[in-house]
Amino acid sequence: MLHIALHFIFPLMVALAFYRDRWRNAALLMVATMLVDIDHLLADPIYDPDRCSIGFHPLHTLPAVTLYAVLFAAPLLLADRRATGRGRRSAARTVHLVGLGLLIHMALDGVDCVL
Ligand SMILES: [Zn+2]
Repeated sequence: MLHIALHFIFPLMVALAFYRDRWRNAALLMVATMLVDIDHLLADPIYDPDRCSIGFHPLHTLPAVTLYAVLFAAPLLLADRRATGRGRRSAARTVHLVGLGLLIHMALDGVDCVL
């Protein structure tokens, strides 16, 4: 149960610490990435408390985590400082936060595997 609570608490803490100007939006986006656990529906049984998600479920494998890292970093690396369009910045910020939320999710699942 603590594990599930951390999936809410940790994104909230990160949002408050690093995205203070729009922390509600940031926290909501990062918490929404819990939808990545939809890949558990492909497993039998769907939920096994003793199973490590990392490397087992398709959206919890290294290729997927690599994609999440790209989603997180690309908006930072490719940011056009001259771009003034609010919509474009907003889309880049959304991609960045989704990537971050997914990375946080994988890290929390990874810690659960170790403990
Ligand atoms: Zn997961």
